[in-house]
Amino acid sequence: MQVKIEILEKNDTNLRIAVKDADVPLMNALRRIALAEVPCMAIEEVVMIENSSILQDEIIAHRLGLTPLKTDLDSYNLPEACECQSEFGCAQCRVTLTLDAEAKDGTRTVYSGEIVSENPEVLPVSDKIPIIKLAKNQKLKLEAYARLGRGKKHAKWQPVSMCAYKYYPKITTPDEKCVDCQKCVDICPKKVFTMKDEKVDVRDLLACNLCMDCVEACPKKSSSLSVEWEKNAFVMSIESTGALPPERVLKEATKLLGEQLNEFEEQIKAEQQ
Ligand SMILES: [Zn+2]
Repeated sequence: MQVKIEILEKNDTNLRIAVKDADVPLMNALRRIALAEVPCMAIEEVVMIENSSILQDEIIAHRLGLTPLKTDLDSYNLPEACECQSEFGCAQCRVTLTLDAEAKDGTRTVYSGEIVSENPEVLPVSDKIPIIKLAKNQKLKLEAYARLGRGKKHAKWQPVSMCAYKYYPKITTPDEKCVDCQKCVDICPKKVFTMKDEKVDVRDLLACNLCMDCVEACPKKSSSLSVEWEKNAFVMSIESTGALPPERVLKEATKLLGEQLNEFEEQIKAEQQ
């Protein structure tokens, strides 16, 4: 069985694909790996040098941790896989970021854009994330260390804000004309249907989420309006936090699944010897 993929929609943060000839266990494995195991960068430790703001150090550190960072997966090692094996990390497994902000002229908001990184490739994905509000003469100065990690340990290392799949819908509309009744067209929350020459027509098949409201709303007892789903076809949506391009998340998830299966196979072989 050869899995076939078709790209439905793709931009910097979103990817929607149709996957044919796959099954639920495969789709779910990819989904779970994308959420919990594909690594990305996040701030792990913060050294406060000066904090005269009203927020405690811990709250600021938490906010910094949850700020998504652009991740350079090819240049850095996961801390546990790095040769240094050091708690503090080395240049291959840690990025140092600094923030030095002061409110000289009055109250102001400090945004993620003020964070300076030793590696310009590893920076907050947006420079408009508010970190703290400082009143006049308050100061915040800190050094932060970002490291690679996995979502299963902490949500800050989740490279996707959403990763989900649904069955590929299959809709059959009645052949006969439906005069005076547009109930299925009107009730559909996703606006899947439209009327064409007094017949019900599918306007946007992939918008269907199989809620069956249209089938229930049809007053005809023996209506030929039916909503089903393809057994082995799915629509998968990935929304990246911006840490990695969504297609890279999917590629890494496939790679990790392959590695896990290889390891499993090796262990079976070892057991048999
Ligand atoms: Zn290291």
